[in-house]
Amino acid sequence: MPQKILKSAHYIELGSYQYWPVLVPRGIRLYTYEQIPVFLKENPYITDGYRAHLPSKLCLKSMFVLSNETVNIWTHLLGFLLFFLLGVDDMSTVLPAAGASREDYVIYSIGLFCFQVCMLCSVGYHLFCCHRSENTSRRWLALDYAGISVGILGCYVPGVFYAFFCDSFWRQVYLVTVLALILAVFAVQIHPLYHTQEWKMLRSSIFCLVAAYGIVPACHWVWLNGGFHADIVQVFFPRVMVMYLLAAAAFLFYISKVPERYFPGQLNYLGASHQLWHVLVVLMFYWWHQTAVYITHYRHSQPCQDFSSANG
Ligand SMILES: [Zn+2]
Repeated sequence: MPQKILKSAHYIELGSYQYWPVLVPRGIRLYTYEQIPVFLKENPYITDGYRAHLPSKLCLKSMFVLSNETVNIWTHLLGFLLFFLLGVDDMSTVLPAAGASREDYVIYSIGLFCFQVCMLCSVGYHLFCCHRSENTSRRWLALDYAGISVGILGCYVPGVFYAFFCDSFWRQVYLVTVLALILAVFAVQIHPLYHTQEWKMLRSSIFCLVAAYGIVPACHWVWLNGGFHADIVQVFFPRVMVMYLLAAAAFLFYISKVPERYFPGQLNYLGASHQLWHVLVVLMFYWWHQTAVYITHYRHSQPCQDFSSANG
């Protein structure tokens, strides 16, 4: 008796004229851009490799199928694993070696927890966006956006905490304002129009605003430390700049749909803008975490100075 065939071959286009056979489990098939439901039509330059109309179980199963979401799913799944392992390493090795206080442990836990939540919300969205129910798909999209806000919060908390380590007043002012800002974004995200195409610009603007707000405490921190010539500023300011460059690059790929815009149909599976955005986000969080480790060592080796003497 012939063995029951559970998988069917599906040919996908990789590059311009190369067709590769992939095995797709029964119940899952891949669609072209024209064939997918309207709510999934977000990027016309990704022409093929879409999953659609799937029940939850097959959405989950589809993570092992090569589709145009595979790289998106796995980059942030591995990102989650990275920040989880970094957390274990911090708690067991890095923080004890730095002579960390209880506050350090709390701040590290908050930061890494936020990164992990951001990664998991993203994985969830890219797994379940192809759900047969449009409502479910949209809910996951909302969660993905909420996850980005949580990720941004995870950058602010250690950033503000260590930048204003010796100035508890401003530390509290900035932590409270950042928290208020993120909560305000959550409130806007509940609005029924928030995830519609019409509000696309507003959505991007809100995230830019939340990220750009960081310039305020950054400039204030430079000023409190006595300007750009101060040692601590020379050490840490370039790190903040790299962080913003990474964020800007990630965001530009995200909104511009470059490079697939110039190679429609050729970057369906690998090299699309959303994949670059994912990788840059992981890189950015990792960079910020390493900066936090660096500044923690610095803070515990150099006692706080009186800021009033630095400002004259
Ligand atoms: Zn994504």
